Amino acid sequence: MQQQSRQRLRLANDLHAALSKRQLTVFYQPIVEFGGGTLAKAEALLRWRHPDLGMVSPAEFIPIAEDTGSIVDIGDWVFAVAARQVKHWRQRFHPCFQVSVNKSPVQFRKQAIEGNGWLALLRELELPGDSVVVEITEGALLEASSASREQLLVFRDAGIQVALDDFGTGYSSLAYLKKFDIDYIKIDQSFVRNMVAESSDMALCEAIVVMAHKLGIKVVAEGIETAEQYQLLKRIGCDYGQGYLISKPVPAEQFELLFATGIALPVVVG
Ligand code: C2E
Ligand code: MG
Ligand code: MG
Repeated sequence: MQQQSRQRLRLANDLHAALSKRQLTVFYQPIVEFGGGTLAKAEALLRWRHPDLGMVSPAEFIPIAEDTGSIVDIGDWVFAVAARQVKHWRQRFHPCFQVSVNKSPVQFRKQAIEGNGWLALLRELELPGDSVVVEITEGALLEASSASREQLLVFRDAGIQVALDDFGTGYSSLAYLKKFDIDYIKIDQSFVRNMVAESSDMALCEAIVVMAHKLGIKVVAEGIETAEQYQLLKRIGCDYGQGYLISKPVPAEQFELLFATGIALPVVVG
């Protein structure tokens, strides 16, 4: 335990300088539309190349960045990088392309006080709001502080869409879906992982899709790793899919190759 807390302290210290030392980078993971099989969106995912420890997973360092507060600067940086990237990709490959950016409850809390430069940046880049999707977790809604509610309304008025990440792992409150005007639900990968025909996870995913569609919400399935999962999700009417089967998160240059070559997707019959 002592070793763990020493490692945490070290990461917290190093993380302070990671931005200025250019050790952080943004990878992009494709999100395909089941209907047309097209590459419609990408999720921006943060990566940290630590000089001694190699690649440190965001699952490990985001909670530390949240505790120390550095998530605010880091999150603003990710947003700026992703916004410039989507501008470039819209001009070059796909006029309606969207990039989604994760925003943690801590960012909502702090930015309520410090103001939010995200909209100003979009205006500066002459980008419409619908070029980005902000991914939030249920935690941000559950806090239900007026701060996050107000910011979500500001996003909505600016045309920025909102996705509810890791759906099914928290409270999955149906009331919140309506109250906060959610555009997308992202079914958590823990449901997709065990999905086989006739399984209870398949029934759950199907129920989520039906419910979401009734509320006018689109559904993205995360963590698709097998052709069978892809086929089942498409068959139950899921709108978008994301996962290693399609592609792992990759650097921007590598992502561009996917626009050029297209993505090989499993054939769905019936
Ligand atoms: P998330 O937003 O739910 O992102 C999806 C995670 O699932 C990513 O992990 C992605 O690499 C992984 N994934 C995608 N497809 C598959 C698959 O087929 N199989 C498996 N096993 N995993 C898959 P990653 O990149 O390690 O990110 C972990 C979490 O860290 C993210 O979960 C998100 O909550 C957080 N995160 C990442 N970047 C940022 C950021 O810029 N800001 C904030 N606030 N959080 C971030
Ligand atoms: Mg996400
Ligand atoms: Mg997720």
